Amino acid sequence: MGVESGSVDSRALIIEDEKNLVALLRGYLEREGFEVAEAADGEAGIEIARRLEPDVVVLDWMLPRMDGLEVLRELRRFSEAYVIMLTARAEEGDKIVGLSAGADDYLTKPFSPGELVARVRAMLRRPRAGTPGPQEEERIFRSGGLEIDPDRRLVRLAGEEVALTALEFDLLLALVSRPGFVFVRRRLLERVWGEDYFGDDHVVDVHIANLRKKLDASEREAGNRYIRTVRGVGYKFEAR
Ligand code: CA
Repeated sequence: MGVESGSVDSRALIIEDEKNLVALLRGYLEREGFEVAEAADGEAGIEIARRLEPDVVVLDWMLPRMDGLEVLRELRRFSEAYVIMLTARAEEGDKIVGLSAGADDYLTKPFSPGELVARVRAMLRRPRAGTPGPQEEERIFRSGGLEIDPDRRLVRLAGEEVALTALEFDLLLALVSRPGFVFVRRRLLERVWGEDYFGDDHVVDVHIANLRKKLDASEREAGNRYIRTVRGVGYKFEAR
């Protein structure tokens, strides 16, 4: 188990009971420079995650005793790790449930280990809101004509300041933290309104609509929006 090829010493945890798959994924992740730990069931996985504080968790949905979704919910109580869920079922409903429970990505078996590695790389490249990276000097986010300064809570569009409410700003920041990632409403609620919010998910729609009026109203082409609706799922930020 070694960290090589100059990559940062990131830790990955594989929670999966299929030994062959674990061995295969371990090989691929180690070649990427990950220190890899494994667990064959959810309880062991959670215990290892507490100790190891992994950066990435590859979590199988079908596990003995405790299923992947339960493991994910437990993990999310203490871990900010990126989680990729694996499933044998290609059902859209499962995907939504997994993502809304806090998974970052989702792969349907069978998949190529190369695909998993590519997803992991992409996730680690995306900065996460609330967990500023080590290089904090330049934290201004830019995309097209949009500029967001999270520290000063300022937003500019084509150089002009856009007046956002605190909620709108937080909502935008959540979306921008993962460009291209589809946030289900519940996830946005948890991030922006807090985990204790038990109201109607559709309150998100109202604030998204207001945010759009301010950010996208000036856009001539309707198809060229920063905030996209993914029908039946949620919203994503489309980088320019
Ligand atoms: Ca399994």
